[in-house]
Amino acid sequence: MREIRKITDDAPRKPNYAGWYGLRETHVSNRADELAKRHYGRVSQVLDELNRSEGYELLAVGGHDEEVPGFLEFLPRQLRSRGVGTFNVDPGTATVAQIQEKAQEIVDRFERDEERREVSDVLERAASGRPAAIGVSPTLWAASFAAIQTLLVQEGAVVPGVVCDNCGWLGESGAACIVCGNATHSTPDVIDDLVETVIDDGGTIDHVQADTELTQHLVAASLRFPVPEEPKAES
Ligand SMILES: [Zn+2]
Repeated sequence: MREIRKITDDAPRKPNYAGWYGLRETHVSNRADELAKRHYGRVSQVLDELNRSEGYELLAVGGHDEEVPGFLEFLPRQLRSRGVGTFNVDPGTATVAQIQEKAQEIVDRFERDEERREVSDVLERAASGRPAAIGVSPTLWAASFAAIQTLLVQEGAVVPGVVCDNCGWLGESGAACIVCGNATHSTPDVIDDLVETVIDDGGTIDHVQADTELTQHLVAASLRFPVPEEPKAES
């Protein structure tokens, strides 16, 4: 996360400025309103341009709590749908670091929620008999068939295993490959080889930091098609 641009507009005079007549007060607050709207419009335009030129996936909006909803109304619909949260900050005094920290909190929360959704999706897939693999051994087996569409990996998971250089089979153990019979070599982290295999086969990888059932299984995958049952490994 970095600062890209700063957009400042003339601050409106105190909106509650009281003149001699109520009329004047209304006039000042109308003007404040107008200045605020102009500023919102400009910021929203820059965000839109930025989206067209560079693109971004998530949008967190910070500002005074009472002003943020008014600003959100200015956002084009496709940007509003990227919104993952808002935070309270004083744009006049906040440092870039403070803004980054608050925005990061929102993005982190969004990502953990997304991870939880992905894990429950794949578990539900398996429970309802659709193609899925849960746990290290079934997932490694599914990878031998290039069947993995989406691989979920628990952050920090490390599992020693074996690799067949001849056909690419991955297993937790076994001196000989159960697919082609070649001698295997051991690897300190077969999850690493699994990730590479899935990428080579055109699948996607999602690392999961959230505390979910995946902490017990370490890996799980949605499969493109069902795979035959895994033979018992010989060691
Ligand atoms: Zn092999």
